[in-house]
Amino acid sequence: MSLAFDDYGRPFIILREQGSKSRVRGTEAVKANILAAKTVARTLRSSLGPKGMDKMLQSPDGDVTITNDGATILEQMEVQHQIGKLLVELSKSQDHEIGDGTTGVVVLAGSLLEQAESLLDMGIHPLRIAEGYEMACKVATAHLDSIATKWDFSPEEVEPLVQTCMTTLSSKVVGRLKRQMAEICVKAVLAVADLPRRDVNLDLIKVEGKVGGAMEDTRLVEGIVIDKDFSHPQMPKELKDVKIAILTCPFEAPKPKTKHKVDIDTVEKFESLRHAEQQYFIDMVQKCKDAGAGLIICQWGFEDEANHLLMHHNLPAIRWVGGVEIELLAMATGARIVPRFEELSPDKLGFAKCVREVGYGTTKERSIIIEGCPNLSAVTIWVRGGNRMVLDEVRRSLHDALCVARNLVRDNSIVYGGGSAEIACSLAVEAAADKVVGVEQYAMRAFAGKVVGVEQYAMRAFADALEAVPLALAENSGLPSIESLTAVKARQLAESNPHLGIDCNDAGTNDMREQNVFETLIGKRQQMFLATQVCKMILKIDDIIQPSQYD
Ligand code: ADP
Repeated sequence: MSLAFDDYGRPFIILREQGSKSRVRGTEAVKANILAAKTVARTLRSSLGPKGMDKMLQSPDGDVTITNDGATILEQMEVQHQIGKLLVELSKSQDHEIGDGTTGVVVLAGSLLEQAESLLDMGIHPLRIAEGYEMACKVATAHLDSIATKWDFSPEEVEPLVQTCMTTLSSKVVGRLKRQMAEICVKAVLAVADLPRRDVNLDLIKVEGKVGGAMEDTRLVEGIVIDKDFSHPQMPKELKDVKIAILTCPFEAPKPKTKHKVDIDTVEKFESLRHAEQQYFIDMVQKCKDAGAGLIICQWGFEDEANHLLMHHNLPAIRWVGGVEIELLAMATGARIVPRFEELSPDKLGFAKCVREVGYGTTKERSIIIEGCPNLSAVTIWVRGGNRMVLDEVRRSLHDALCVARNLVRDNSIVYGGGSAEIACSLAVEAAADKVVGVEQYAMRAFAGKVVGVEQYAMRAFADALEAVPLALAENSGLPSIESLTAVKARQLAESNPHLGIDCNDAGTNDMREQNVFETLIGKRQQMFLATQVCKMILKIDDIIQPSQYD
């Protein structure tokens, strides 16, 4: 309990702590937070890089996820600690903004905090550390810009995009098929990209899949795949050059409201009711036929009677198609969504070159593939995989690669991977740190009454923290980490070559240009920004007040 005394010497309580609250203050608080963050970050260290390990996570209801993706690991870990949650958010924001580099950003943040801890032990104030980190981050990102290369690509020459996507995929479960998958992703992105405006709407790329088959069977469908089948088993399984009506009204006779009462006491009355109902269906089917539709896609189900009639009139149909898919289909086929049968007219129909139903092995599951749509604004990556866990991981990996391709369409600058960019930045920050305590600056700052040059320690710490990425890459690849790092660093300095990194795959060269290991500049820059921001935030917390059950 914090007690204070008023002017008359009467005690009053500022903060009631006993029982309900616990409180940690000052450096102790910062250190407690750093410890928590380090613990979370350490979990991800072994997952970094092409030889990174996967994690298996079981949710409370027994679902198992096997993944290498930082954001997914942290999300499913269900971190309880408040500071741990900050790191989860960190990797999520990298995921939202960039889509890739979610492991790297957390490893970097963890390492920055680790370094901050030793600075705290030296007695440096957390705010000075934060300031130093900020300065170092500016230097590092400026250096990144200077070592970045622009890689021009065109729809005919997509190799640069493919290579960059391959780097992203090399650490994932699809590493074995990285070229095939990277090509699929690049094709998908270019199919929906608006190149003059340098924009890609990833919502138009659906990544869908079915358990079964092999990963090699994954392919790009230049159209839409929906998880449905034709409403009647005897309808044709493949339609060519078909006109499509998209309906959001049900194929059923109007139902009497509960307020009305229908008395059927004779066979004749029943028959006439049945006839009237049947006539409704016949009219509906006729309206579709009159409009010229060759396929009905309906948001609702049909009664057996309607289904039978549709089959009888050679009008294939698909029922229970979800709202999002209806919209996508309407966009792609050029159809208008029709809410009432009366509104059906030939100009509201869409068109597709091919609509076919496919089955999977011995299961009852079916999918409909709609290809050759006039406004090819949506594509689907159809993923296959041996089990649900592999399938989910492939989808996550493809998401990363799609994001990388999109980022390159937006900004075609790349930096080299394998820790080379981090080492180059680390060297640049070290050099900048030496300049911080120039004599003139020293004098000026002393005059301003400030503590001098402490930031240089923080900047050096930042430089050391950047080395965590190449260190982790080397460690995960079974290389002697410190030796590999120092060797590469020495070569970078001697040869002034910022493309030298860790040779994780034992390819025989450290030059990442030759190994074709690329990452996007915006991704790398964002990693540094975000990691620095989170560190600064954690360093600024000097008081933790929490309910005591969390002690
Ligand atoms: P993230 O989720 O952060 O993208 P990854 O596990 O995909 O993490 O690892 C990415 C790191 O691995 C990057 O630093 C990248 O430069 C590095 N990397 C990827 N492929 C190679 C390779 N063939 N050789 C060396 N480093 C690589």
